[in-house]
Amino acid sequence: MIKKIKELEKISRLLDSGQSQRDKWNAEVLDYSNKFINKLNTSKAYYASEENGKDIYDLDITEQPTKLSTLLESTSKNIDQVGINPASGGHMGYIPGGGLYPSALGDYIAAVNNRYAGVFFAAPGAVRLENMLIRWMCKLMGYPETSTGNLTSGGSIANLVAIVTARESHNLKARDFDKAVIYLSEQAHHSIQKAIRIAGLSEAHIRYIPLDAGLRLSVNELEKAITEDKENDLIPFFINASFGTTNTGAIDPVAPIAAIAKKHKLWFHVDAAYGGFFKLVSEMSSKFEGIEKADSITLDPHKTLFFTFRNWYDPYERQGETLKSLSFLSRLYARHA
Ligand SMILES: *Cc1c(COP(=O)(O)O)cnc(C)c1O
Repeated sequence: MIKKIKELEKISRLLDSGQSQRDKWNAEVLDYSNKFINKLNTSKAYYASEENGKDIYDLDITEQPTKLSTLLESTSKNIDQVGINPASGGHMGYIPGGGLYPSALGDYIAAVNNRYAGVFFAAPGAVRLENMLIRWMCKLMGYPETSTGNLTSGGSIANLVAIVTARESHNLKARDFDKAVIYLSEQAHHSIQKAIRIAGLSEAHIRYIPLDAGLRLSVNELEKAITEDKENDLIPFFINASFGTTNTGAIDPVAPIAAIAKKHKLWFHVDAAYGGFFKLVSEMSSKFEGIEKADSITLDPHKTLFFTFRNWYDPYERQGETLKSLSFLSRLYARHA
């Protein structure tokens, strides 16, 4: 048995790259990143090309190793030089934005030590770090000590967590779903509609509340709709307000909506994926009045704090051969305990 383990150890050592190998790889990757970053001021905001990154398929998965330089060349050609380059100096869109270098290094360290932080016992320090970040965000939003949250892989998932929590909090069962009512504006982020479907609530009624002249959800219309739905024996249970709509940055009136939610006993969710971290800007502070009354909030550090994205290809976005990349990093879902 011990002999067998020793033999297997010898074979598995092949996966263990020694320091001189690592130094070589690190130097190559560092050179690639410096070239990428040093070019940002002059690199294009959008690259149109016939191939559109198709040659990435040339690196099909095989038994034979591929040289790092080949991988980096392909990355440069097929990933960096097609589509939008949000980190470019010419990219005027706020969403998606470029990232900050220290954030990339944080990702690097997390990948090197690769701690399993799924349970406290396995990585108590990493779990404490997550809790510390959550406490900071809760405090920033004016939430009480008893509030809690978690870091999800994206704002979309954070919105999903909010809807599922509201559904459970209202004790909605399958038999209630076709009576349940959700309120939002047409400017709400599309992840809310996706979350509704994933939460099994596609039979629920969705009320798109009309907008005022500033493209904000109209409070009067909201209350009118809730009252009417209650009279018709429906079950109003969820209001989504956008704190900074993705299209225009409009802020739905959170304080009056919070009052309506409380009066009619609805879950009040604020999707602040775009606007939440503007709380750090003192001139913007007054806009946040009432946000602490929300039952849940989504915040998005890869937007206002310029953290790196967690990219993946979302099958919901599938359009022919093009898969749009959605970006995800740690977002806060927080609720009052
Ligand atoms: C970006 C955004 C989201 C989704 O965030 P992802 O991290 O892309 O999942 C949700 N809501 C609003 C208002 C957003 O701007």
